[in-house]
Amino acid sequence: MADIFDQIIAGEIPAYKIYEDDDVLAFLDISQVTPGHTLLVPKQHYTNIFDYDEAITNKIMTLIPALAKAIKATDPAITGMNISSNNGESAGQTVPHSHWHLIPRYDDDDLNDTLVPTIDNSANYDQEAYETIATQIRESVEDSHGL
Ligand code: 5GP
Repeated sequence: MADIFDQIIAGEIPAYKIYEDDDVLAFLDISQVTPGHTLLVPKQHYTNIFDYDEAITNKIMTLIPALAKAIKATDPAITGMNISSNNGESAGQTVPHSHWHLIPRYDDDDLNDTLVPTIDNSANYDQEAYETIATQIRESVEDSHGL
């Protein structure tokens, strides 16, 4: 059965897309732990990192730094970034389709050093707010940053 990310990849449910190619899709995480919180997912269904073959490993590991740089370039207030992936229910994985969190950090973001990716700030975001952030990052991606 298709999971929520399969449905986003298929265009069956909307997402604020950041980057897309034949192998991967990056889009805003609905929860926006911090502004710019992005998910990078393989299009093919890998449940988690334990399913990865060499090709998707190389693809993801090459894209993560490029995407991180592109996101950081959107706002000088972004001074750091947490990059993580929960693999397996015991590790807190809630969507059974491999994904990588890129969570910009701001000097005044009031998060603890230990990141809690389950924080949900979606109530603070309307369509316009998501679109503004997505457009900024998309444009930064288009300005290359190695993608
Ligand atoms: P996990 O807890 O598995 O590491 O992360 C799953 C992430 O998927 C959560 O941060 C959650 O906010 C995000 N998420 C769940 N459903 C949707 C959705 O329909 N759209 C988007 N953009 N993000 C989602």
